[in-house]
Amino acid sequence: MPSTTCPVCGKGFRIDEDQALLYEQVSCPHCDANLEVIDESPVILEEIDG
Ligand SMILES: [Zn+2]
Repeated sequence: MPSTTCPVCGKGFRIDEDQALLYEQVSCPHCDANLEVIDESPVILEEIDG
C-alpha cells in the first residue's frame, strides 16, 4: 500500500492502491483535510480548497 504525507498536518498515512492515482481525491485520517493526488510516484497530495 502506498504511503504519503498530508500537506496540511504533516503526518504520514497509507492510501489504497486504487486511490493512489493522479487526480484521485482522498481525505487525511488525521486532520480530515480534502486532498488530491498530484503525483503518483511517490504519491504527493495537495489540499483542495473548499
Ligand atoms: Zn492531515
